Amino acid sequence: MNKRWLSIFLLIFVSSLHAAPLAIFVDPKQRIDINNAIEYTLSASPELRGNEVWQSQRFKDADIHPEMFLHFRMSIKNTLSDDQHIWLTIEFPSIEKLTVSDGANSWVTGDALPYHSRPIDAPNYHFPLQIRSQETINVFGHMQGKILRYSFELATPVLISKSYRNTLQLDMMFFGAMSLLVLIAILMFIVTKRLVFLSFAAFAFAVQAWLYRVFGYGFELLWPSAPWLNDITYAFTVYSIMLSAAWMSIAALSSRKQLVKRGRLLIGYTALLPSAGLIFFVSGHLKLALDFPLLWFFPFNVLLIVIIVLELKAGSAKAKWFTISMLPVILGGLILVAFALGIDLGIEPKAAIMKGLVLTCFLMIFFTGAYLLRVLKDDRDRQKQQSEFNSQQAKKLEELVKERTTELEASNQQLKDLAHIDSLTQLPNRRSIDLFVDKLNDDCAPICLAMLDLDHFKKINDTHGHEGGDLVLQQIGKLIKSLSNTQTIAGRYGGEEFAIVAKNTTKEDFETTLRSLHAYINTTTIASFPALKIGACIGWVSCHKAEQVIDAFKQADQALYEGKLKGRNKVIEYTVN
Ligand code: GH3
Ligand code: MG
Ligand code: MG
Repeated sequence: MNKRWLSIFLLIFVSSLHAAPLAIFVDPKQRIDINNAIEYTLSASPELRGNEVWQSQRFKDADIHPEMFLHFRMSIKNTLSDDQHIWLTIEFPSIEKLTVSDGANSWVTGDALPYHSRPIDAPNYHFPLQIRSQETINVFGHMQGKILRYSFELATPVLISKSYRNTLQLDMMFFGAMSLLVLIAILMFIVTKRLVFLSFAAFAFAVQAWLYRVFGYGFELLWPSAPWLNDITYAFTVYSIMLSAAWMSIAALSSRKQLVKRGRLLIGYTALLPSAGLIFFVSGHLKLALDFPLLWFFPFNVLLIVIIVLELKAGSAKAKWFTISMLPVILGGLILVAFALGIDLGIEPKAAIMKGLVLTCFLMIFFTGAYLLRVLKDDRDRQKQQSEFNSQQAKKLEELVKERTTELEASNQQLKDLAHIDSLTQLPNRRSIDLFVDKLNDDCAPICLAMLDLDHFKKINDTHGHEGGDLVLQQIGKLIKSLSNTQTIAGRYGGEEFAIVAKNTTKEDFETTLRSLHAYINTTTIASFPALKIGACIGWVSCHKAEQVIDAFKQADQALYEGKLKGRNKVIEYTVN
């Protein structure tokens, strides 16, 4: 006989020695709370010695040492006229070992066994009892481990299956909603490139994974034959929740460019969690590694609350929306705490915290999305203003450039004029005459060229001063200017010398023009010096080819010199001697 059967046998034996408590009635229509019809005792071993003191008062969770065995016993009477098939349900959040017997059958189970290895394939612990009409059966057993809020009830299998289905439906709806939120958050991250959405996704996913594990679905559906994964996945999901919660809080309260005030402190404190957890794990303190997140969580909350209050005081809109988003989960948490303290608010605490979580995640994504939309709109408005301003500036610049260009053109023209016009007489200067000559070709023939030099100009300067000389130059300049047209250039060649070059003209016409110019010069008077007679020598030459023009200057000069020699004030055509 192995040890287990021995203990069960002893259990049956010992418990049968004791007076059974009151029988209870069985009602097939509802779940019956039988906690008040049960007697309890604590012992250090699974076997009873017989001297234990039984009490109908429930032991407080805190008074039950994990190494101790909590024994229970009850009598159930079927007061109905037909036989009953009914389930005894024992609910615990966590239990390592549970033994139940009705005298005929015995079951040994615990948290380390998947549901399908339990008497009934459903969460929690259900034990199938057969009670004949008017019969009373004694049910007894013991449990050991982390015993929390144990509770006993009786119900028909139909009722239990129905409530299991309801629970399952609610849980799956929760997981569906959380998955959807994770997806939305990831999409928002892809669209906006804001890490805050990724932090929401991480948090929502971690919460979902944790609850999946805590509700037993991980063990039941994913790793039914590897109970050792329970602790690892529990630790992993709890650490993930804490870390993602910290990340989400920091990301939601900070702006893209600036970390929230005291954010560094929060980050530093957050970094403590994985590092300490890892140290505990590596050094073999598994229990401490598992419990540490909860220890860590309370100071974290205090720190976070301080930061949020400071941000709210500073008028941060983000902190306001963050707080509003947190309200549902805080409310769910309060309902859970109230339940743990034994205050019945008539609300199912598990459903409350789950709905709170879904709503909080939804609000966070919604508010952050709305906030980002506003930021994007502001950005767009600012860009619009900027581009309007830019186009105004561009217009101004364009006008300025236009203005400057006009000015520049005018000054260019001035420079050009300066380069081509003699400033004293306003006649084309020597450069203009040279350019005119450079452009000449044989089609311009016949080309006539004359050089003119005023007579005794030094004397005029000596007599009337340099200014007087200038006046004379200006006066003669006017006469010479009148000769300029599309075919003729008449300019100042230098000093008191002038040159006249005409293309497509005849010798006769040119000579006539020169003689009439000469006559005008002789008759010209200067108002300031009425007695002054002005004389000039003109030497001229005609040619039939453009290439002869260079020589023509020398020849005209020679003719001019000849005029000077012949007594001045002459018009002389160059002739080959
Ligand atoms: P000639 O009859 O032999 O030509 O005697 P001239 O005195 O005219 O002698 P020349 O042609 O050698 O002298 C030219 C003088 O013209 C010399 C110079 O002082 C004067 N002169 C040259 N350019 C200017 C000018 O722009 N203004 C004034 N007032 N005098 C000038
Ligand atoms: Mg001269
Ligand atoms: Mg002279």
